[in-house]
Amino acid sequence: MRALMKGMTDAEFERQYGTEAQCFAALLATRQAAGMACPACGNTRIYVSGRRIGCTLCNRRWSVTAGTVMASTKLPLAIWFRAMHAMTCTKQSISAVELGRRLGVSYPTAWYLEKRLHHAMTEREARYVLGAPDGDGGAAPVVEADDVYLGGERNQGSGPAGKTPVIAAAERHKSGRMGHVAMKVVGSFSSSAVKAFADQCIAKTAHVHTDGLRAFNALGEAGRSHQATATGSKRPPRERGAPFFIVNTAIANLSTAIKATHKSISPKHADDYLGAFCWTTNRRRAMTDMVPALCRAITTSSQLTRRSVYAAEPVSLG
Ligand SMILES: [Zn+2]
Repeated sequence: MRALMKGMTDAEFERQYGTEAQCFAALLATRQAAGMACPACGNTRIYVSGRRIGCTLCNRRWSVTAGTVMASTKLPLAIWFRAMHAMTCTKQSISAVELGRRLGVSYPTAWYLEKRLHHAMTEREARYVLGAPDGDGGAAPVVEADDVYLGGERNQGSGPAGKTPVIAAAERHKSGRMGHVAMKVVGSFSSSAVKAFADQCIAKTAHVHTDGLRAFNALGEAGRSHQATATGSKRPPRERGAPFFIVNTAIANLSTAIKATHKSISPKHADDYLGAFCWTTNRRRAMTDMVPALCRAITTSSQLTRRSVYAAEPVSLG
């Protein structure tokens, strides 16, 4: 089991992605596999000219990074790929400070890389819903959902002041194994926020199990079934098999990841942080495939504006 939790070795990474040409070829092949067409005429036959791609029909040229989170980057592709490797080769996430040190780039550059790759992961996870039946006809996993506050100052009581409300959900398979997880920032723990989370993240046929928080009753709408188990004011027990063991394990892992690497995350960037955490968690059984998987996520990602990336004040979270 332990061997499965290890990603690609540094030596293997260097062999496959050590040069700019190898990274270009990998990104181009992934974009072509996803169906890259000429933005002007839709033709799918292309030629390569340096770091740019040309259309064989109308001669329109575009960058291999166009239209993705990597659009307009001036960094070598080899730096992007090293960032992908550094961010995914262990189960632990990595801080922008540590990423910058490993890549030999400045903190702002490392932060920019990490933010964009987190965003690509988050967009990929947004296309997955929890609690759908297995493809091979097996039973659908139960979805455990819980409300959790991230951050805020300690020793200020248990109120929500300064904290970021998050809904977390995790699939519990019949065997007790954890399946996919999903986590999103919500404005508050209201019925409408719960409903919006469910519409985006949980299958219409799913069975959802929560604690007694009233807003979770909205999970029983739209064809889903909902079971509430009152847990009182205390956190439920953490033994395997206890109610909410799976979602609480996911939340505990998130808390550990935040404490290990991030002194602060602004609420504006918390969704991308959570999306990246879920992306990594959901691929923990295929860690040697992380770089190709992230490459695929990038090819289907959308361009980020500078405004959406930079306009945020960091606050304490952890
Ligand atoms: Zn064309």
